[in-house]
Amino acid sequence: MARIVQKYGGTSVGSVERIKHVASRVERSVKEGHELIVVVSAMGKSTDELVSLANQITDAPSKREMDMLLTTGEQVTISLLTMALHECGIEAVSLTGWQAGMETEASHGNARISAIKNERLEAELAKGKVVIVAGFQGLSEQGEITTLGRGGSDTTAVAIAASLKASRCDIYTDVTGVYTTDPRYVKKARKLHSISYDEMLEMANLGAGVLHPRAVEFAKNYDVPLMVASSMEDVEGTLIEEEVSMEQNLVVRGIAFENDVIKVTVKGLPNRIDTLSKLFTTLSENHVNVDIIIQNQYDEEHVNISFSITQSSLKETLAVLGKAQEDLQFADVSFEEELAKLSIIGSGMVSNPGVAAKMFDVLAKNDIFVKMVSTSEIKVSVVVLGADMTLAVEMLHEQFQLAEEVQVAVTV
Ligand code: ADP
Ligand code: ASP
Ligand code: MG
Repeated sequence: MARIVQKYGGTSVGSVERIKHVASRVERSVKEGHELIVVVSAMGKSTDELVSLANQITDAPSKREMDMLLTTGEQVTISLLTMALHECGIEAVSLTGWQAGMETEASHGNARISAIKNERLEAELAKGKVVIVAGFQGLSEQGEITTLGRGGSDTTAVAIAASLKASRCDIYTDVTGVYTTDPRYVKKARKLHSISYDEMLEMANLGAGVLHPRAVEFAKNYDVPLMVASSMEDVEGTLIEEEVSMEQNLVVRGIAFENDVIKVTVKGLPNRIDTLSKLFTTLSENHVNVDIIIQNQYDEEHVNISFSITQSSLKETLAVLGKAQEDLQFADVSFEEELAKLSIIGSGMVSNPGVAAKMFDVLAKNDIFVKMVSTSEIKVSVVVLGADMTLAVEMLHEQFQLAEEVQVAVTV
């Protein structure tokens, strides 16, 4: 008998039929003799619908009330799934995040899990029950309801798996695994048999929405074997693990992308030792999350600094810069909207200096202008026009031969 955590995402529980289907899958695992904890998301697009209801009332909803609202979505699913299991004759009980002991830091909208008081979970399992837990939600020390950020049910599942020392955590979703890139955009995307925690973490952080980045972080830190598979089809999924046993020689394993990127340029800053630190301290003190940074000296006394942010933080960024203009002594701010960031990811890059060059070459040959670049040991990211994003991903996918099962090291 194994202790297993399963997680079913929004599409997988998007209707009564699908909830009944999930119940039958859970029933099957129970009959195989496993001890099960099942984490679920809100049904279908219901979290988006709740966000839209709030936006019809106010442009600036209170973060606390937003969490109060959004956590209702998962509560609908836990109760319905538990009822469906009762109909199958399975003993099951639903628990909200706080009943399940999910403690988080005291920040709304994107809280981190600080501890799991798992006594209740253990007690229900000891009674022989399947425990159905609401994903994405927790409670702060101050007794406030919090959420873990969009897509956060994955993190609930992995954190519970770590805390209960489950033998594995299976994430069931609407695709059959982790692909070389988003299969909705690139028809030739190929499912990976396995991917390392580090590569998956980069993919998730760089826009591959199939897993919440913090779920991968938890899995890596607590050695939880993590699998992504389909909730509809019984086909092999993708294993996320420390050592990738297959396809060892890959230089590029996947491509991730995200749109709604904005490049902000602060012009005419003084060319002084503390300029960078002052600018980015001001931004960070105001919770503006900055991604790629470029500094340009245009004369002895002045520099321009560009950085990328997401669309949702533009208003705040401009307001913060406006207020700080005198203090930072810059001349002007401009910004460019509708950009996209795409990233190639692979742990083999570290020993392959030609990878970035090859990426730039592919983009140039397709008339795709690169506006910003950033690299790490296992990824290269570029910012391009949003309109070029899909073509760029397709071309890179082809040139790095990602559709093919056996790959050769790239030499440029
Ligand atoms: P769930 O509701 O089950 O959590 P998500 O919508 O959060 O599902 O994640 C699954 C989606 O992630 C897929 O439908 C797919 O479009 C997207 N996706 C993005 N990048 C990838 C990738 N590299 N591999 C697989 N799916 C990806
Ligand atoms: N329901 C939440 C969302 O849509 C959490 C999740 O699905 O993981 O973001
Ligand atoms: Mg998800």
